[in-house]
Amino acid sequence: MKPLPIRARLTLWYFSILATGLLAFALIILAALHHAVHRTVDIQLRDHMAAIRRIVREDSNRTLTALHHDLNEDVELAPDLTLLQIWGQDGQIVYRSAAMNGMQVPDSPPQLLDHPVTRKYGHHPLRELVQKVPASQTDYTVMAAIPVHDFVEAIEQVESTLWIAIPLLLLLAAAGGYWVAGRALSPVRSMITAADAIQPGDLAARVVVPMAEDELQQLALTLNRMLGRLQAGFERITRFTADASHELRTPVALLRTRAEVLLRRPRSAEEYRSAIEASLDELEKTSCLLEELMLLARADVGAETLHFADVNLTELVRATAAVAESLAEAKHLHWSVTLPPQPVHVHGDEGALRRLLLVLIDNAVKYTPECGSVQLALHGSGAAVKLEISDTGIGIGEEDLPHIFERFYRADQARTRATGGAGLGLSIGQWIVQKHGGTLTVESTLASGSVFCVTLPHAALLR
Ligand code: ADP
Repeated sequence: MKPLPIRARLTLWYFSILATGLLAFALIILAALHHAVHRTVDIQLRDHMAAIRRIVREDSNRTLTALHHDLNEDVELAPDLTLLQIWGQDGQIVYRSAAMNGMQVPDSPPQLLDHPVTRKYGHHPLRELVQKVPASQTDYTVMAAIPVHDFVEAIEQVESTLWIAIPLLLLLAAAGGYWVAGRALSPVRSMITAADAIQPGDLAARVVVPMAEDELQQLALTLNRMLGRLQAGFERITRFTADASHELRTPVALLRTRAEVLLRRPRSAEEYRSAIEASLDELEKTSCLLEELMLLARADVGAETLHFADVNLTELVRATAAVAESLAEAKHLHWSVTLPPQPVHVHGDEGALRRLLLVLIDNAVKYTPECGSVQLALHGSGAAVKLEISDTGIGIGEEDLPHIFERFYRADQARTRATGGAGLGLSIGQWIVQKHGGTLTVESTLASGSVFCVTLPHAALLR
């Protein structure tokens, strides 16, 4: 079965709780009324029975006529207690007060009663007490009674008032509850309307946060925080797509222009060759860029997987540095590599770590003018493995430092594509380091050099 809407459920709960409360209240009131009436009447009844007992005992030898006389006197003195009937030992009625005549009390002596009870004779409810009263020659069965018709009627009236008032009250309360539930849920409705109106192109919109510090305020704040994250993600993707298309447009335009110029007139074989070589160079750069873009896109959706294994980092740094040394030599850079005497191991993806090293070494060489120096140092002692790549290059300005790990960010925007890359190397490097549970930090001073520091957990610590 489909669950009821929250507003109806709230009302139903409210109605059930109130109905139970009111029902219990009515039952308690009625029980208290009965108890109060019985207590008052029972005291009178017991007092009356004690008085009869005294009268009978006063003179046990008197004649029945004398007893009648004394009892009549007593009955007249207490006009409220006029219902009295006495049976002799033989079961014959020896006395019946005048008021008792109208009642349909049986002629035979009733059962003795320790406690007063209420019985109905015809239309007359009586509270009665039947007890044995011993006299000198015989035992009497005395029935003293008080009419409780008025009390019963009053209680019945209260009862019927309650049974009419309670359903009316419940109906009223349920309608009120439904209205209150509607009002309480109105912020949710406005949040739904606001959230519904938010379009992919307008993620800056937010839902209204209610003033009261409650769950609804929490819900609105959570929704707004989620919208903030979505907006940031959406903007990042939009920027990434725009930057990527911009980066790809440049080589395509270059190749096209070169081909058009080449075709304008017949060329010598040498000219064709050099144009094709230049185009090939450009195409290589572009396919590198495409490969980097694909890697980042796959990393974003978690599709890029690394294959972790034990990696001898000392060996990896040595081999990579040997490959990169030729780059430094071409620029006449002072090149130094410091490795620890014992092999340092990390748990990682060898290919990815090689790529990270190449990015950092390539940058150090690229951004250090001729005759500068580039140093690589690996430290394996202590809790973490530390790899430092320092250069005496152009450095990075304070305002650029926080952004250099962003995609497509280049500290010097005017730098040509020939010297600088697309601004993706450090983003990829940082992603690799994060995947290895490490950190990548930088310290740099403009015009005096930079130090990039990679910290990775020791393989031994991960086991
Ligand atoms: P790029 O391909 O442009 O080098 P990176 O992501 O590797 O992209 O680096 C981002 C930017 O950080 C670079 O454009 C450069 O401005 C700055 N940068 C990185 N490494 C160095 C360095 N060793 N010295 C000076 N600037 C650096």
